[in-house]
This record gives sequence, structure tokens and C-alpha cells, in this order.
Amino acid sequence: MQDDEPPKVCSDEPGLAACYAAAARGVAASGDRADQAPLLSLRTAWNSAPMASSSSLSRAFGKMARALSCLSPATSSSASSRLSQKSLHQCSEFTDEFSEFSGEKLPSTVDNLGTLLSILFRISCCSWGCHGGDHQFEWLVGRVTNQAMAATNLIRSAFYDESLMLTRGIGEIADLFRLFSSSKDEFEEWRRSTKKQRLNKYGPAPVRKKLEQCGANFSIGESRYQKLCEVGTHPIPGQIPGHYSGAGRPVLGGIPQPVGIYVCYTELGYAVASCGIFLSGMLHDQERKQQIFDCSSQLRTSLGMFSILTYEDLLNEVIEKNRNDENA
Ligand SMILES: [Zn+2]
Repeated sequence: MQDDEPPKVCSDEPGLAACYAAAARGVAASGDRADQAPLLSLRTAWNSAPMASSSSLSRAFGKMARALSCLSPATSSSASSRLSQKSLHQCSEFTDEFSEFSGEKLPSTVDNLGTLLSILFRISCCSWGCHGGDHQFEWLVGRVTNQAMAATNLIRSAFYDESLMLTRGIGEIADLFRLFSSSKDEFEEWRRSTKKQRLNKYGPAPVRKKLEQCGANFSIGESRYQKLCEVGTHPIPGQIPGHYSGAGRPVLGGIPQPVGIYVCYTELGYAVASCGIFLSGMLHDQERKQQIFDCSSQLRTSLGMFSILTYEDLLNEVIEKNRNDENA
């Protein structure tokens, strides 16, 4: 990239880029900000990002900052627990408002995800009529719904890696739906399988192998799946926990990081939409089938560019750009 060429994100998503740049600059800067939590850089983002000018957002942030500033090693454990609950609650308030006002993609992703989840919730509860049987399909849909709702709450409390761990699980179920929608026999075999058969034939790895053998794309591509394993699930040497600031330091839960919010909602939206697209193929009700397919497609198209595969590069671009600007 040329020095004078702004990163692509600056032209595509200016508000988001401003937020990202501020987060990166605030945390990584030398001088009196060198050892401060990214909370301050978020405040910087607040003032510079066009989408973050809402006074209600500022109030939510102020409340959260005050609660967090009361936490210190000297605080008693019960008081500390109450305070951390309070700060988590305020972190959730902050994230909700951020998600509502931050550009176009994120609010639309959250809206479309909510719509799709409300439909999946009702399918898992036989809300449009019970088809009888052993309800294995409905239970699987219910699992996706629950995991997605839990992942959303983890995003709201700024536990981003942990949210991605659940999202990876949803991706594995999406692969199962992918397999079952292409072969009714597979679904019948899965629902009758013993534990041993299930582990051998329907664990994440065997399912991906089966899909590969029959030439089907994975619901969640190989590189995306591996990255979800690395960031969210398996302990990997050198993998910094909660690292969505570019500062090279871990950030624990309860402290919002805009990039964490973007990445986690994009990944969750991608995984749930993949489930929706493939499970719609297993439905008999044509109207419902079309409704879920349409909602899932809409969710897929609303996803932003900050994904688990892109955020590190995009962050490096912004940091590099800032460094060049400072040296100019
Ligand atoms: Zn039923």
C-alpha cells in the first residue's frame, strides 16, 4: 500500500474507521496514555467518530467509566463483585447503544440477526404448529437459538473471545444442517446413532470430511473455522486474550472494544445465517422455508467487513497509517 493511500476501510466505512483508528491510537500511544486501559481510547473514539455523537451513548459510557474506576485491588470482594456486576451491566448498555448507532452495517446486522433468531426461536417451540415425531430437528434449532442468544450476551459484556467460542459451535451445527439438507438419510442415521457412532461419523471433523468428499462447501470455511478455534477456543501460545485494540495487550471482559463488537456480531451473524440457509432446506412448509431463507440471505448481505479473518490486517493498516501521519 502507498503511504499516501488511505486504507480501504476509510473510504468504505469512515465512521467505523475513525472509531477503529481512535481505539488503536489511544491504546498504543506513548506518553501519558501509555499504560492506560483502552477505556480512554474508546472515549477518544466517541468524540471523533461521527456515529458516536449521541448524548445517550455518552451518558452510558460515562456511567460505565465511573463504575470501572471504582474497581481497585483495595475494594472488598463483595463490593468488588457488586461493582463488576454493575460495570458489566453498564458495558451492556453501552454496547447496545453503540450497536444501534455505529454506522449502517452493524445496526442492520443486529436487526437482521434478531429477526432471524425470533423465527428460529418459534420453530424450536413448534409455534407454527407441531409436526409430532421426536423433535430432533426442533431441538437442534433450539440449540442454535440458545447459543446465539448467549453469544449475544457475551458480546454485550465484552467477552469477545468467549462469544466466538459459542459462534464456532453454531458453525459446527451449520455444517450438520448442510449435510442433512443434502441427504435425508444422513439425518435419519444421525438421529438414530449411538454415542460411539455419532463421535465417529458426526463429530465436527468427520462431518467436514464428508462435506469435502461430496464436493460441498463448508458452511463455515476452513480458514474461518481454524481462526475461530485459535481465537475463541483452544489455548494457543502467543494468542493474546481479548485483543481487539492492536495495542498488543490483553483486555479482559467488561471493557468494550469497538472492534470486538464488530468482529463478534459479524461472525455470529455469519454462523446463524449459515444455519438458517441450510435448515430452511429441511422444512416442508414452503412459506416458512422461503421466509427463513430470505431472512438468512438478508443477514448475510448486511455483514460488515470486520471479520475474524480481516480484523488484524485492517487494524495494522490503520496503525500504519497513523504512524505515517505522525511522521509526516
Ligand atoms: Zn412439536
